Amino acid sequence: MEKISSLKRRFLIPLGAVYALTILVSFAALARIADDIIIALGTNLAENQALYNRSRTLQPLLQEVAMARKLADSPTLKEWAANEGNAVLAGKALAELESYRRFFRDSSWFFIVDSSRHYYFNDAAGSYGGNELRYTLDPDKPKDSWYFATLKNEADYALNVNPDVHLGVTKVWINVLVRDKGRVIGLAGTGIDLSTFIKEVVGVDSDKTINILVTADGAIQAHPDSERIDFASLTKDTSARKTLFSLIDTDLDRQAFRDALARLAGDPRFHAETLVMSVEGRRYLAGLTHLPEIGWFNVSLIDADTVLHQGQIITIALTMVVALGVVLLATALLLRRLVLGRIAQLVTATRAIGHENGTVPEIPDGEADEIGHLGESFREMAATIRNHTHTLESEVEARTSDLRRSNAELEQFAYAVSHDLRQPLRMISGYLSLLERRMGPSLDGELKSFLGFAVDGARRLDQLIIDLLEYARVGRDAPEPAPVALDDIVADTVRGFAPQAQEAKAFFDVAQGFPVIMADPLQVRRLFDNLIGNALKYRSPERSPVIEIGWKDDGGTLVLWVKDNGIGIDPADHERAFGIFQRLVPPAQCEGSGIGLAVCRKIVEHMGGRIWIDSQPGEGSTFFVALAGDRAGKGG
Ligand code: ADP
Repeated sequence: MEKISSLKRRFLIPLGAVYALTILVSFAALARIADDIIIALGTNLAENQALYNRSRTLQPLLQEVAMARKLADSPTLKEWAANEGNAVLAGKALAELESYRRFFRDSSWFFIVDSSRHYYFNDAAGSYGGNELRYTLDPDKPKDSWYFATLKNEADYALNVNPDVHLGVTKVWINVLVRDKGRVIGLAGTGIDLSTFIKEVVGVDSDKTINILVTADGAIQAHPDSERIDFASLTKDTSARKTLFSLIDTDLDRQAFRDALARLAGDPRFHAETLVMSVEGRRYLAGLTHLPEIGWFNVSLIDADTVLHQGQIITIALTMVVALGVVLLATALLLRRLVLGRIAQLVTATRAIGHENGTVPEIPDGEADEIGHLGESFREMAATIRNHTHTLESEVEARTSDLRRSNAELEQFAYAVSHDLRQPLRMISGYLSLLERRMGPSLDGELKSFLGFAVDGARRLDQLIIDLLEYARVGRDAPEPAPVALDDIVADTVRGFAPQAQEAKAFFDVAQGFPVIMADPLQVRRLFDNLIGNALKYRSPERSPVIEIGWKDDGGTLVLWVKDNGIGIDPADHERAFGIFQRLVPPAQCEGSGIGLAVCRKIVEHMGGRIWIDSQPGEGSTFFVALAGDRAGKGG
């Protein structure tokens, strides 16, 4: 699995990097486009705002201006101005002024007769009815200088934002020259309360926009923040004025602003100008319109940062990140489903071929893609392996059964030969015995011993054949394994050797609690018979035999042993001792055919076990028999 997951890592890490890069590039692009969008949106907004403000500003003002001009054009007023002392004319003129008062927005009027510099006024409450002459203007008093400046200006009418110290109100005054045949004979007009004015025109529409009204030199006439308003612009000297120019941050922006104002003033077709400029450290989109009727300009400033909220950009960015995250996740899942999972299946299957003994696992059917083809090839390969394994197994099986058959034939042959040999041998023995009996008394010493050798030879040959028959018979026609109580077998065998043991003064040390095993009891008896017999037979002439018969459970394997203190066997001869007719001692020393241990080995191997010797010459021998656990029953 670790290879697969590393493949996944190797695939997903660069993919993730590509996605991250995509996000970065998109961000950069978005940031660029966002700025363009902000400027486009903001510019539009500023332009519309400026146009809207223009009409909003002009509508009430123009109405007031028109009415003030109409008033200044009144023949009644002109007549009275020319002859101020005439009480009849004065009555008519004042009555006319009063009738206008009701139509002016501020419900007030003023009228100045230039020849006397008398200032007539009545307010919204009509407080000065009958007492309209308020005071006389004095060219030496600064508070009256506005009047003389207005006259000098010679414009038909002028608007002036002015705090009136006498009346305690701040008004936008609409001043209209009263002319008689071109000659200025007075000034008439009205005022609008500045607070109302600001509220209506520059009042905050939204927190995004700042609406400002400026004169052609940039003096601020209206601003949401009244602190910024340049009161009495007309009378101040230019350097003391509060201008929008002084609020603009750079010379470049100031110049652009000045140029825009000039373009608007010079060409009535220019309805609106837009600029991007920095004011008091903030970036604004500015919409500019000209109000030629009052000689002012409207400036609408929109904070560039508020056009598109930071939050909106973050939302867009987050959406992008989430979308790409989803793509990455989907890719990972698809990769796992379509590639890695299936490869992992193949890997598991491939490993199983190596590990499980010969069984080849099934590869599930795949789709008709590259991995599907891989699986297909793998399936074919697995099938081939399966076939080969099968063929190999059946060949081994066939050869094994051939071998078994030829072994059986060989044993059959040996058995038959041994059996058939005994027939003529018995005849020889019989006739030799007959000869010995009939002629024995008459034969001299030498012939008699010759005859004795022949009889003995025949007897030994018979014994050899019997032993050979016994060897051949091991495993033939063996009954089904049955429970064999080793305790009983060992005790019986030891008892059977009682005469020899007595004669040799032997001592047996037999362990207790031998387990019950599954075997052929006759064979087991023969095994112990041979081993115990040998232990007695090959005893040391120097000591009386001590024979130990024991067992142990060696991790599930039953180990039995027969240990003696006899003559011992040279390690070089340990293997040879198990061969047929192999004897390690000269025939004169001990009787025997050299077949006992060969029979033992054949019996043990027939039981699926192993037999071996641990011995040194002169130090006794131990014969070990190990039987697989499944042969051994419970101990006790
Ligand atoms: P036999 O006893 O008929 O000669 P075996 O096959 O039983 O034949 O033994 C083979 C040979 O192994 C014996 O001739 C003997 O030399 C040696 N041998 C067997 N058992 C022992 C033993 N317990 N101690 C020493 N030598 C032994």
